[in-house]
Amino acid sequence: MIILKTPDEIVKMRLAGRVVAEILKILEEKVKPGITTNNLNAIAEFECKRRGAVPVFKNYPNPRGGRPFPGVICASVNDEVVHGVPSNRVLEEGDIISIDFGIILNGYAGDSAITVPVGEVKAEALGLIKVTEEALYKGIEKAVPGNRLGAISNAIQRYAEKQGFSVVRDFVGHGIGRSMHEDPPVPNFGRPDRGPVLKPGMTLAIEPMLNVGTYRVYTAPDGWTAITYDHSLSAHFEHTIAITDNGPEILTKRS
Ligand code: MG
Ligand code: MG
Repeated sequence: MIILKTPDEIVKMRLAGRVVAEILKILEEKVKPGITTNNLNAIAEFECKRRGAVPVFKNYPNPRGGRPFPGVICASVNDEVVHGVPSNRVLEEGDIISIDFGIILNGYAGDSAITVPVGEVKAEALGLIKVTEEALYKGIEKAVPGNRLGAISNAIQRYAEKQGFSVVRDFVGHGIGRSMHEDPPVPNFGRPDRGPVLKPGMTLAIEPMLNVGTYRVYTAPDGWTAITYDHSLSAHFEHTIAITDNGPEILTKRS
């Protein structure tokens, strides 16, 4: 069941989204060769406390069983797609890191992700990052009342594949509101004429994950980290948006 939000609820989601954006911006600026993913995690945790925000990834139950997620952020490096567990791994010049981050503030969730180059990176990595962010915006453009949800999915897939990248199938976006994950699932692939008709008041987390090589992924022995099957690079961008009469409003927009 898709839960439509009232204008008052969207105001609250805008505040949660703003906090997510502020903290991601801080993390983006901290990404440099020599920092560990645990360092980034600690910064995120501190910034949540300061703002009275509850980090929602921490202790998230593992759908495959096993230990709950230990981090405040997901930190996925190079061939890691999503759900990378923060660790003492030191980021090196030429790496790329995807940071996924979500909170609940005053009862409403915000969820957003960015991929950031570490120092100087190869042109292929920069291209992947650019196209993944552009694919997200291609999807967001279709988040208008009257379209079907599949229009978002299809726009992302078409753009990504036209640029020569593949779209991960095993993980998808989602509705968001009082909970981090609500109906409907928001795939990054598929036909434009499928799925529910979009309505004002729907709030979605749209989150394409693009790979240089195969779209296939596997889960690491830690029970969380998703890795590309062929170890090619992967990037991830996500925004929480609200569908309004005037089109999409990005609730997690960074300044
Ligand atoms: Mg996320
Ligand atoms: Mg999400």
